[in-house]
Amino acid sequence: MNRDRELSSFFSEAAKDYIRPIRDMKNFLRLAAFGVLAFSASHVSAAPKSPAKPAAKRVDLKFCPIAMEEAKPSANSVKYKNYNVNFCCPGCDGAFKSLSNAEKDKKIAEVLKKQNAKKS
Ligand SMILES: [Zn+2]
Repeated sequence: MNRDRELSSFFSEAAKDYIRPIRDMKNFLRLAAFGVLAFSASHVSAAPKSPAKPAAKRVDLKFCPIAMEEAKPSANSVKYKNYNVNFCCPGCDGAFKSLSNAEKDKKIAEVLKKQNAKKS
């Protein structure tokens, strides 16, 4: 009478051994699918077309907010809010820094207006 139990447990063990590879295969396929998704997601985000970075993207200002002249890469640049504020000459950055935030915002708005007008 114990034998029946042994037998049934043997069969259930056998069944497990039979089912397990299938389950593993399912897990493998799920992992593989996830891997493909993760890869394509990372691949897409690495593409230069989509600058969807988690960090706030910075806007480069192409004109000096002080003189409204075209900014030169040799001059200093200052990070303000999410802008890279560029200047036409050294010294303008100091002038910019001494402005109040309201004045800075106003200057940046002027620069953006100017560079957007130039772009189109
Ligand atoms: Zn300047």
